[in-house]
Amino acid sequence: MDLQLSNAVAVVAAASQGIGRAVAEAFAREGAKIVINGRDETTLRRTADEIGARYGVEVEAVAGDVRVAGDCLRLIEGTVTRFGKIDALVTNAGGPPGRSFEDLTDEDWYAAFDLTVMSAVRLMRSALPHLREARGAIVNLTSISVKQPLSDIVLSNSLRPAVVGLGKTLSTQLASAGVRVNDVAPGHIWTHRSKELASVRAANDGISLGEVRSQTELGIPMRRYGEAEEVANLVVFLCSPAASYITGTTVLVDGGVYKGLM
Ligand code: NAD
Repeated sequence: MDLQLSNAVAVVAAASQGIGRAVAEAFAREGAKIVINGRDETTLRRTADEIGARYGVEVEAVAGDVRVAGDCLRLIEGTVTRFGKIDALVTNAGGPPGRSFEDLTDEDWYAAFDLTVMSAVRLMRSALPHLREARGAIVNLTSISVKQPLSDIVLSNSLRPAVVGLGKTLSTQLASAGVRVNDVAPGHIWTHRSKELASVRAANDGISLGEVRSQTELGIPMRRYGEAEEVANLVVFLCSPAASYITGTTVLVDGGVYKGLM
């Protein structure tokens, strides 16, 4: 299928590694121009150079922290300065810390709100005039926690649904302007973050990382973690003109973990 992205410009937040990087690579495979963001300038530049060299596309790196309003604005303005338009915006950030409710302070909640909710709010708000012009698309990267709360990640369970609520609201308001808004909700994907979470559990339970991985995989109907690329393929499809009649949806990429019907 031709995703018709060869003249497109895509912005991918939090993309120096993990799912964000895989999304940037999937856009690159389709020939799109890409702007990636991440906090560490050196790592981000290396990622941009690697993707540019591997796929022969233009990749711009705009370092910044998506918790910071000015950095979100710089990412969007930097994209328009470099490439003149925005066809696709993928919001993403690191995950909020996985602590239990009783350990969380007000400061923890506000910090997680900035990371998870305000990053998406600010990126979408700044990009909107450009997306209207291009009749473009937004995908918010969230989590299976928006459909099925997970144990010990109360911040994610509580705050990510706000992003879905915002995306759904915008999808209705923007549909007549030709701008689409969808969410992609990964289950267990084997990335730096999931390895880190598994290592913490291994240390707490006094078992090996391999044992934690096997135990987790037993709870996944497909009996394996997903790959970042398997999430990225869906994100890029939803951003493309091939998904022109799809808006306001949340699609899981979870190997069958979600237990509900809808
Ligand atoms: P990862 O740790 O592999 O990558 C996260 C990326 O985000 C890194 O490039 C990091 O530098 C960047 N980042 C973190 N905080 C940032 C900030 N404030 N500003 C800019 N960049 C920042 O994680 P991942 O597994 O790719 O996860 C990406 C998102 O998807 C996270 O929010 C995570 O919670 C969510 N998620 C992951 C899984 C999974 O199984 N991996 C499942 C559901 C949801």
